[in-house]
Amino acid sequence: MNLGEADKLVTFFSLDRGMQKGTAKNARKSFRRFGAGLEAFTLSRLHLYEREHQDLPRIESADILAQHAEICCNLASAAAGAVMLELVKELAPPGERNAPVFLLLSQVLHLLNEGGDPVFLLSIYEIKLFSLLGYQPKLDRCLSCGSLPKGETVFLAMKGGILCPDCMVSSGESQLRLSAGAVGFYYQALRMDMDKVARLKPSTSILQELDRTFSAYTFHIIGKRLKSTEFLKTVCAL
Ligand SMILES: [Zn+2]
Repeated sequence: MNLGEADKLVTFFSLDRGMQKGTAKNARKSFRRFGAGLEAFTLSRLHLYEREHQDLPRIESADILAQHAEICCNLASAAAGAVMLELVKELAPPGERNAPVFLLLSQVLHLLNEGGDPVFLLSIYEIKLFSLLGYQPKLDRCLSCGSLPKGETVFLAMKGGILCPDCMVSSGESQLRLSAGAVGFYYQALRMDMDKVARLKPSTSILQELDRTFSAYTFHIIGKRLKSTEFLKTVCAL
C-alpha cells in the first residue's frame, strides 16, 4: 500500500515472525533501492531496522531469493496466487511464527510459478493451510449422529463439519453437497507431502466442490468475501 508521498506499507509473511507489516522508505520514488524485492509472490530476505516505541519496523533492503515472475504472466495463476496471499493474510495471527505455513506458501508459489494448475494448487493449499492454522474442517464423521457416511454429505460452514444423508433433512441451513470422492481427496491431500500431492489428478467436479466448501467456510471464519476470490471466479470457471 502507498504511504504518504514516497513510501510504502508492506505486508509480508515471514519465516521468523509470521504475518508482519513494515515501512519501506522511498520505495515509490526509487525503484533501485528495493528492485522487485517487495513485489507480490516474491521470496526475499528482508533487512529490518527496529526502534523502541516504534510501531512498525523499517525495511532497509530486500534481497530476492526467488522471484516467481511467471505467476503474473498468466491471469489464472495470478488470480489463484492472490487468493493464496489474501488467505494467509486474513487467517494467520500477526507476529506469530509458523514455519510449516511459510514452507507451504513457498512450495505452492514455486509450483504455481512452474506452470502448475492454479485451481488444483489453490485447493491443495487451502486443505493444508486451514489445518496448519487450526481451522481444519471435520469431514469424516456426521456432526449430528457421529456415523461415518459413505455417500454424499452436506457441509455446514457454520460448524465446519458435515451431516450424513439421514441427518441432513432436518437442517434448515443452505446445503453445500460434498461427494465421497471429494471427501476422499481431501483426506488424501491432507496427509500427503507437498511433493507427492502435486501428482494427484482429481476431477474438475471434485475441485469445484472443495472450492465452494472452502469459500463458504472462509466467509464464515473471517466474516467477509475475499476480494481476490471474486477476481478468480471471473478468470476461472469455478
Ligand atoms: Zn448423521
